[in-house]
Amino acid sequence: MAAIFNPFQMAQQQFDRVADMLQLDESVREYLRWPQKEFHFRIPVRMDNGSVRLFQGFRIQHNNARGPYKGGVRFHPSETVDGIRALATWMTWKCAVADIPLGGAKGGVVVDPAALSNGEKERLVRGWVQQMRKNIGPRQDVPAPDVGTNAQMMAWMMDEFSLLNGEYTPGVITGKPVGGGGSLGRTEATGYGVVYTTREAMRHLGIDGSKTRAAIQGFGNVAQYAAVAYKQILGGEVLCVSYWDYNDKRAYTISKERDFDPAFLLSITDQYGSVNKQKAQSAGYVFEDGGAWLSKDADVLIPAAMEGQIDAVNAKTISSRVKIIAEGANGPTTTEADEIIKARGIFLIPDFLCNSGGVTVSYLESVQNDMNYYWTKDEVLQKEDQILTEAFRTVLEVSLNEKVDLRDGAYMVAISRVIKAMQLRGWI
Ligand code: NAD
Repeated sequence: MAAIFNPFQMAQQQFDRVADMLQLDESVREYLRWPQKEFHFRIPVRMDNGSVRLFQGFRIQHNNARGPYKGGVRFHPSETVDGIRALATWMTWKCAVADIPLGGAKGGVVVDPAALSNGEKERLVRGWVQQMRKNIGPRQDVPAPDVGTNAQMMAWMMDEFSLLNGEYTPGVITGKPVGGGGSLGRTEATGYGVVYTTREAMRHLGIDGSKTRAAIQGFGNVAQYAAVAYKQILGGEVLCVSYWDYNDKRAYTISKERDFDPAFLLSITDQYGSVNKQKAQSAGYVFEDGGAWLSKDADVLIPAAMEGQIDAVNAKTISSRVKIIAEGANGPTTTEADEIIKARGIFLIPDFLCNSGGVTVSYLESVQNDMNYYWTKDEVLQKEDQILTEAFRTVLEVSLNEKVDLRDGAYMVAISRVIKAMQLRGWI
């Protein structure tokens, strides 16, 4: 029987590998292998039918040496504590590698958001804030959206905190809607960032982006804007995307050999991410099994759905044409698959570098909240590009100097920065 995928074990294994290379002290290692604080709580919610349902919620704060804890809140029916621990840990490395002054945290609720009405969702996110109000805040811990949560939910959370706090506090949360304290460019930020780092990888490898094709897993926030930016910024083609169909309870890959149009697909996608099959088929899109995206004849693979999607078995089906894997999702590649990909000489841009555009613009959002002055979308995206390009180049330089792959190089940069902050603060 295959072992059950545990993202936190994977996060610790990745860390341990580099901790060995850096010959870290046992106590420092123990400090960084585990979160500093964990909150587990139950949230009672009055449902539309009058009954009260209890939801399991979490907030896990991994490290705040470099600044307030930062990380999304995920709503997913099969969320686990270890899933959230892994994501919190990766947030610490993500903020450090992007060199933004924030720490790492993650939250979650075990729930299928597609099964809730808008009113139930609002009561649930307000309940989450009521549980965490003493331990979040602009200088303590700043949540944001993730899988299953969106800008409207962030606005409700900000409002609940402001009500409880007695003053308007937009900086308590990021990913808010524009006009409600949000930043222009935040919606696009993660997907665009995936493409900025892919562009830098192509520059390093001498690849002309306009002659490339990408296969993308997922068609949510990250995947949608990665698909749009792939065409817009690189001039490349998108070959397929995939998504989880809530009605059919299975995943599909949607492909089109020529003139794949992400904006059109978006216009026929419902709020829960299911694509209108009939309309897509009549426009020439082909529906295949959800796993088909991985073995497409693409130059670039962009896993942008969930953890553990590329494993030791399906990694062997990756086409020999693939030159780059850009990890849009957090933890999409298992440790075993990582080895296979490395052995095949595919250039992998690791998750916490590749998808750090989201938290980077979240940081820019909180800076704008503090200033009470807002930048244009171009200004925001330009700053994001600059920060990510710098992060990519620093990691590439370390990985070339140390003769390690980009994942280990990114860990080296991130761990060293966090340790430096811990030393400066006198913690170690
Ligand atoms: P989302 O909920 O908007 O989208 C997730 C997508 O994955 C949906 O299209 C869903 O249909 C698809 N999906 C789920 N299971 C699938 C499967 N088995 N096969 C194919 N598709 C499947 O979430 P998102 O915000 O786009 O996040 C995607 C990933 O990126 C997550 O790992 C998240 O943690 C990570 N991430 C998100 C951000 C952000 O700013 N949104 C930032 C950094 C990292």
